[in-house]
Amino acid sequence: MPTPINTTTDALSWQESALCAQTGPDFFFPAPGSSTQEAKQLCRACEGRLQCLEYALTHDEKFGVWGGLSEKERHRLKQRRGAQGWGDAKAADTVH
Ligand code: SF4
Repeated sequence: MPTPINTTTDALSWQESALCAQTGPDFFFPAPGSSTQEAKQLCRACEGRLQCLEYALTHDEKFGVWGGLSEKERHRLKQRRGAQGWGDAKAADTVH
């Protein structure tokens, strides 16, 4: 995953246990049309999943798998949150 800029250390503490840091970016930024299943499987086991997803939503990350969701899934989640007023990443559990 890319290193974010202009954020506090506390807000990024979830990155210390990020499983993707151990595998490299290839799974998480696959070529168009490639599977994201390997990345999502790792995300499901990652301690920082919800924080990662919130980060991606807050910073409007356009590419890759973040917090177990693809670009399209994050976009749909944001739309649902906007329509329903949801406030945190726990709503992501209902997306899959
Ligand atoms: S949830 Fe996935 S993308 Fe986010 S830090 Fe964990 S392994 Fe990386």
